[in-house]
Amino acid sequence: MESNRAKDAVSQRIQAMVNRVADLKARERYFYNMPVTELRGGARAIVNGRDMGMYASYGYLGLLGHPRIGEAAKAAVDKYGTGTNGVRTLAGTLDLHVELEETIADFKHAEAAVTYTSGYATNLSVISTLMGRGDWIISDKYNHASIVDGCMMSGAMFRRFKHNDMAELEKRLIQAPADVAKLVIADAVFSMDGDIIDLPKVVELCQKHDAWLMMDEAHSVGVLGKTGRGIEEHFGLGDVVDIKMGTLSKTIPSVGGYVAGKKDMMDYLRHASRAYIFSAALPPAQAAAAMESFKVILDEPWRMESLQANTDQFIGGLKSAGFDTMLTETAIVPILCGDDERAYDLTAACQAKDLFMLPVVSPAVPNGLARLRSTVTATHTTDEIAYALDVITKAGKEIGII
Ligand SMILES: *Cc1c(COP(=O)(O)O)cnc(C)c1O
Repeated sequence: MESNRAKDAVSQRIQAMVNRVADLKARERYFYNMPVTELRGGARAIVNGRDMGMYASYGYLGLLGHPRIGEAAKAAVDKYGTGTNGVRTLAGTLDLHVELEETIADFKHAEAAVTYTSGYATNLSVISTLMGRGDWIISDKYNHASIVDGCMMSGAMFRRFKHNDMAELEKRLIQAPADVAKLVIADAVFSMDGDIIDLPKVVELCQKHDAWLMMDEAHSVGVLGKTGRGIEEHFGLGDVVDIKMGTLSKTIPSVGGYVAGKKDMMDYLRHASRAYIFSAALPPAQAAAAMESFKVILDEPWRMESLQANTDQFIGGLKSAGFDTMLTETAIVPILCGDDERAYDLTAACQAKDLFMLPVVSPAVPNGLARLRSTVTATHTTDEIAYALDVITKAGKEIGII
């Protein structure tokens, strides 16, 4: 006898996704979850047995596989083993965690920092700890899913403003009742578009309307600012962001997340945020790798210079070929394709020529704005980027994107 469950909403949702994936696989248009089998520096990798140029990495400074960072991780395993004795509050804190948090605070020119075991959990926990029922959160429409989830979980009034639209941001601030706590939150560099938040204006509005300010620096640390310190350095603004959030999983080739800010706020989060209290501490190898990475960024300033030059070469080349790269000014370079199918076609053509590029389609981006979300790193060579531009341009013409 067939059970009713086979027809219920959960089964239907599962079946719809299974069908969508099966259809893409049958047409050789499924590109996700491909195993990388070997690293060849930050700019190349072995995928499906082929040596490919890597244009889908979050490792903007090419630090993955860096010998100093690998050695730091190995030494930490030898000294502390592979895990911790539990959560930070009880037996899980190591001197490594304390040093890592000091290193981050120093790097971000903040009084203190708190780390968590993922960037996603950081946003979820920090936002929902600081904000609650009756408070107002005002969030950019293109903010990362982890921010949106944190806002929903907080129970606060959750209002969004049109992407990077400062007039709408001010409208929302004015709509909030005068006596409620307000938090404005945005990605510093937007993860799908690569454009930069108008921080000077956001700061002005937050000061004018007495709002707290939080920036998610997942894609700006090691990308923006002369020394890679991020959005405040980029705009030459000093310490203007109350809650400086970032991840340890992108430019920093480890895993985890952090917030930096005033000491009292960090103490509060250490004793009130649930991801800190109820989830195990960062493993020693990952904490040590993260700490060494911040030092490498400062010791090897050529990486920031090279990233900037490579970004300019890549965006400049795509634009002069006629591609729409939207408003990006950073190493995240959307190559706009239009509908999902054209993004799949361009991906297939690039991968056939050994460029590891990936499509981002709806619902991750709005319908009709499907794209290749490509990235360059500090360690690509000028010749590699020239080759990639040549391949993308030829394929773009054949498919009719340009
Ligand atoms: C990746 C990302 C996160 C989550 O970080 P993880 O360390 O991968 O969990 C948060 N915010 C933004 C903007 C991101 O791109």
